[in-house]
Amino acid sequence: MKCPKCNSGMKEARVRIQDAKSPVISHQCAKCGYFDFEEKSINNAIREIKIMEAPLSIKQKIIKLSHGRLGMYLSKDIARSLNLRGGEEVYVCVPDKKHLLVSISC
Ligand SMILES: [Zn+2]
Repeated sequence: MKCPKCNSGMKEARVRIQDAKSPVISHQCAKCGYFDFEEKSINNAIREIKIMEAPLSIKQKIIKLSHGRLGMYLSKDIARSLNLRGGEEVYVCVPDKKHLLVSISC
């Protein structure tokens, strides 16, 4: 990767941002000091911070269902804050081994 300002080589560095688990990858030019962040990694970090700062965090138990399946109740508070009435389709995504993300829409 070349520096867009002076065209010399850029050095890759990993930067830690408060509350984000994954480091943000930045590219720094040793010659002119120009630097930028890799968009994918900064978006990742922003997402992680948002999860940490979620306005609603409730401890819930996973319940056992038949055929090895598991389930989880959504409390009234969660349903109300997300405007869920039941019957909606949601998207479940597992970004890493510690998060289960349920998106109401894509
Ligand atoms: Zn430069």
